Amino acid sequence: MSLMTPEQFEESLKDIKPRIFMNGKKIDNILTNKVTRTVVEANKASYEWALDPEYKNIMTCHSPLINDTVNRYTHVSASVDDLVAKAQAGTFTAEMLGTCIYRCVGYDSFHSLYATTWEMDKELGTEYHPRFLEYLKMVQKEDLSVAGALTEARGSRKQKTLDWEDPYLSLKIVDKNKDGIVVKGAKINISGAFASHYINVLPQAAHYKGEEDYAVAFATPVDAEGITYVCQYTPNSAEREQAEDMEELGNPLYGQRETSMVIFDNVFVPWERVFHCGEYQYSVKLVTRFARTHRMTCGGTCKVGFMNQIIGACKLLQEYKGLDKAGHINEELMEMVVLRETSRACGLAAAYNGGEEPKGSGVFLPDELMGNVSKLNVANAFWRVMALAGDIGGGLIVTMPSLRDLKTPEIQEYVKEYLSFGSDASAENVMKVTKLLQNWTAGLHGVGTWHGAGPVMAQKIMLQRVIDYDHDKWIAKRTLNIKD
Ligand SMILES: Cc1cc2nc3c(=O)[nH]c(=O)nc-3n(C[C@H](O)[C@H](O)[C@H](O)COP(=O)(O)OP(=O)(O)OC[C@H]3O[C@@H](n4cnc5c(N)ncnc54)[C@H](O)[C@@H]3O)c2cc1C
Repeated sequence: MSLMTPEQFEESLKDIKPRIFMNGKKIDNILTNKVTRTVVEANKASYEWALDPEYKNIMTCHSPLINDTVNRYTHVSASVDDLVAKAQAGTFTAEMLGTCIYRCVGYDSFHSLYATTWEMDKELGTEYHPRFLEYLKMVQKEDLSVAGALTEARGSRKQKTLDWEDPYLSLKIVDKNKDGIVVKGAKINISGAFASHYINVLPQAAHYKGEEDYAVAFATPVDAEGITYVCQYTPNSAEREQAEDMEELGNPLYGQRETSMVIFDNVFVPWERVFHCGEYQYSVKLVTRFARTHRMTCGGTCKVGFMNQIIGACKLLQEYKGLDKAGHINEELMEMVVLRETSRACGLAAAYNGGEEPKGSGVFLPDELMGNVSKLNVANAFWRVMALAGDIGGGLIVTMPSLRDLKTPEIQEYVKEYLSFGSDASAENVMKVTKLLQNWTAGLHGVGTWHGAGPVMAQKIMLQRVIDYDHDKWIAKRTLNIKD
């Protein structure tokens, strides 16, 4: 059994020294910094659930690769059942955390790397796949947390990569020697990487001949020399930093969600961790296979868990306010449930219709059509759920005072009296639930849901490629008895 306890996970992070900056300051200890601590807590929870008799069936599975039980977030799906379990785990982790499980991009990139290294070796005679398997075995045996980095800084979208004045706006190989490669560039918007052990890096800008130096995929320890993280900094970060009591925040333990830029300034990667180097024709496959997996995750699984949190908070506020019988509120709650279940259905359909890709690789990916439909559907559904939550929660969602005011002698009685809504609920509970809704409706999750796993245009482009209208045309012609 190779599973780490949550305490061992935290201990393991003490050995890692990533170079991190936030809001103009260097962060020396991610375990004690209040903002980065939220990522540690979220990843730590995934270790706790893997050992919990109640949740271990969701969070663990058998890996034939090492013939042992592994955390599901290190497993590559090898059947439709695996994909369904993956979808269910996505919803479970999201509803329990109320934010991202930061291991999901790494999890999804394992699928793409497994499938594409297998294919490259078969078609080109390269030796990436055994290397990748050795790496994956290590991740599974040591029960490591792995983040995923795909999105580049990128230069002007009007120009081709080779025309950019600054060649490092996409991650580029700058040196190759007998021991490995050296890369320079950056990835932006990377979720929770600094509280992981490794980052899987995928290419983004290599499409054509001449762009071989941008065709690169590898894994690196998060604290390799030359790597720097510049963290996001938001009003939520500032609020957390100055909070005296974490209970004042809408999600005390796990926070909003934390991303950062990752800068690679001449980072050395040994050959045993390089999984793609120069074969530009396969770069797009690495990206699209990742996207195919990640769109099911983002579209039809984690947002379902988030909606559970939002719906639960709305239902509580309805009760606190004595609005149980208000017809339009019940309608709104039902609409939220329908949006949630439609999202869940899309995710599960992507899993159930999934299949082996490429044939013979042993890797199962979600259905391309339904994965993209999932993401496209949730991009709008999530905004709608937030709008409905805003209606039910009322203006207090954006006007509420601080929970600290409940402890301020001069005003605490006013706040207690006027914010309990005359119900049995305490003002403290009303405020906490309202704060949770503030986190969702006025926080980072709307835009995050839109762009995570790619903006909607990316899904539309993919749908245009995969939709097959022949059957529909045939049905129309058959109905009308048209023969040509
Ligand atoms: C909360 C969050 C977490 C994330 N976590 C990760 C992570 O862990 N790992 C990771 O790799 N990525 C991560 N991402 C990145 C995410 O995948 C990107 O945000 C997404 O792909 C959109 O890219 P972008 O942000 O650069 O936006 P842009 O690409 O700049 O998109 C902005 C707009 O420009 C349009 N556009 C862009 N390029 C073109 C073009 N060539 N022609 C026409 N229109 C164009 C888009 O359609 C969109 O309308 C995360 C993002 C968010 C918001």
